Amino acid sequence: MPAATMDEVVALAKRRGLIFPASEIYGGIANTYDYGHYGVLLKRNVIDEWWRAMVFERDDIVALDSAIIQHPRTWEASGHLAGFTDPLVQCLGKCKRRFRLDHLQEEAEARGEDPAKVVCPVCGGELSEPRAFNLMFETTIGPVQEAGAAVYLRPETAQGIFLDFKQTLQYARKRPPFGIAQVGKSFRNEITPGNFIFRTLEFEQMEMEFFVPPDEAGKWYDYWRQERLDWYARLGISRERLRLREHTLEELSHYSSGTADVEYLYPIGWSELEGVANRGDFDLTQHAKFSGEKLEWKDPQTGKGYVPHVIEPAAGVGRTILALLCEAYDTDELGGEERTVLRLHPSVAPVKVAVLPLLRKAGHPEVAREVYESLRTRMSAEYDDGGAIGRRYRRQDEIGTPYAVTIDHQTIEDRTVTLRDRDSLTQERVPIAELADELGRRVTNRTPA
Ligand code: ATP
Repeated sequence: MPAATMDEVVALAKRRGLIFPASEIYGGIANTYDYGHYGVLLKRNVIDEWWRAMVFERDDIVALDSAIIQHPRTWEASGHLAGFTDPLVQCLGKCKRRFRLDHLQEEAEARGEDPAKVVCPVCGGELSEPRAFNLMFETTIGPVQEAGAAVYLRPETAQGIFLDFKQTLQYARKRPPFGIAQVGKSFRNEITPGNFIFRTLEFEQMEMEFFVPPDEAGKWYDYWRQERLDWYARLGISRERLRLREHTLEELSHYSSGTADVEYLYPIGWSELEGVANRGDFDLTQHAKFSGEKLEWKDPQTGKGYVPHVIEPAAGVGRTILALLCEAYDTDELGGEERTVLRLHPSVAPVKVAVLPLLRKAGHPEVAREVYESLRTRMSAEYDDGGAIGRRYRRQDEIGTPYAVTIDHQTIEDRTVTLRDRDSLTQERVPIAELADELGRRVTNRTPA
């Protein structure tokens, strides 16, 4: 069973300012969302966790931040100009909307229906024959559109990594197997509506290209499939709603000798969170051909060289966030009232601890500020002294804050505070002097994979 419905998650994300439709004062724009304060913090945490797993906890991967607009030949070499097309169908019934046939078919399959019999999901009308259209956004460099050079907003971050392969080899002092990791925005002219941040026009990708000796490609493909699946489990996603799905022969891209999707059981059914592909030597060979540069690794001792094969785990930040929100959304009963709570893992929660003074009496706000100041330098903390304590807890529960500290009479007497746990609802007394260390331990305590 999916953990929550899409409507519940969308409503909470908007209510608490995590994620909401972009350009709303103009009526919004299709498949485009803005991230508010807590959404930004959540996104940063997801990206930080990825960098941690990819770069900081290993010695064999380096970071890169390449340009969004690359030389247009890039997309000829990669095959995106000719091949990055999708079948577009139009509703012949009442609504006349356009859809991607492959998406409608995937959704039908996820619902257990016959993909060959899809109709318009909006009005039930018959669909036209599919037409191919390119997903890349095109623009022009130069002041006059006709005379300028046509360029494209990158539809994936991966190609920038291949373009900088030689450069990186020179300064990073690595030899295969080694990887180059990048996080950044990509753009696709997606026309399928709906499903919140699952499919957007602009989105952030977390991609890593792992360059290996050709005869080790199979081994590393298996390794990265498992590694990436485990990463999601460590972020608190339940194993029952995570799976690896190997692509069938018909689904495989022309360059790939193996692709597995890490899938999550979203409210829309099992869908792709991340793709892990064994890309062979396709990309380096193509860019070598189109650029005239030699893109290979040469053993300095033997002088022998080869074109490394590439294993690529390609994840989406938005899809990870959506999975985390769906997974974390929960309701229970507290003091006779229904409570909505985001049970986010502390490592990704936007705010780790809220400091809530109970009384406005002299001495209380001062101690509360002191506690807050001591915590905020260590972790994302929030100070809230406005309104009834129940309402303040509810706000923090809804944005997934795992811990809350209250300052009361006893604090003034013995310098202890109450530490409330969002999930167990236990309240313990902890000395102020030990609070930061105690919280630091709890927040960084990761779920074993
Ligand atoms: P799909 O088949 O769902 O369109 P894809 O197989 O084309 O996805 P990839 O090219 O493998 O996607 O991109 C890698 C990852 O980037 C995806 O697993 C997903 O997390 C993310 N991604 C791709 N397209 C989008 C999009 N339009 N909006 C949000 N995330 C996306």
